[in-house]
Amino acid sequence: METLCRNFLWDGGTEFMRSPLVSWDKVCKPVKEGGLGLKNNAHSNKAAIAKFVWWITSKSDHLWVKWVNIYYQQQQLSNQKGHEYSIFKGYECLREKGAIVPWHGCVWNKWNIPKHSLMAWMYYHNSLNTNEKLKRLGIAEDDTCYLCGIECESQDHLFFNCCYSKKILENVEQQIKVKLSTQNILAWLQQKKGTIKKQGIVTAIVTACLYQIWRQRNQSKFELHLTKPEIVARQMMGDLRIRIQ
Ligand SMILES: [Zn+2]
Repeated sequence: METLCRNFLWDGGTEFMRSPLVSWDKVCKPVKEGGLGLKNNAHSNKAAIAKFVWWITSKSDHLWVKWVNIYYQQQQLSNQKGHEYSIFKGYECLREKGAIVPWHGCVWNKWNIPKHSLMAWMYYHNSLNTNEKLKRLGIAEDDTCYLCGIECESQDHLFFNCCYSKKILENVEQQIKVKLSTQNILAWLQQKKGTIKKQGIVTAIVTACLYQIWRQRNQSKFELHLTKPEIVARQMMGDLRIRIQ
């Protein structure tokens, strides 16, 4: 079941032969810890069984139930003594907790177009298969950027330092009268300037820029075609205005 879920996430089908871009352990973490909030099947199953055991122990006084009470509850649910059991609490006891990531609000910002959020999630995990990464892994020989054809295609170069990407960002800046270009996009987004709605909309614009730059990069790689940055920026802002209205 877990394999089917994993394959569907990364390929939209049941069979997937390539390595996932983000590990399943990370995918199954809550969104604040950098995951997609999916449940780990094994832990969910154990938590559900524990609920059943808990229910039985409250209804019966048989010897085997006492054994379950002594063995299972003390082994797995010791933190829940004195509290009512729930599958959620059981699951939380079983899973490995992670640190809260600073970028979860940028990825799951309500103004984002959903497909942009998923791409940004991979960006913040530094998991996009850029040419720099593919060359480092021995999969590609050439790490040259598909957008400018000059520099090494790292994530930082591709999204913020490439001359093509800069033109998209500059065009968007002119439209919204806000300076976007920065080396540390996360720190910039966390400055929290303006109202919550304005922050959300600017975050959605930056997230859309990430998505469109990556899309143009893939279009250049697979279709050998690159749309003019001003056209990309204009279409992107048009889509966002529909979303925000
Ligand atoms: Zn470039």
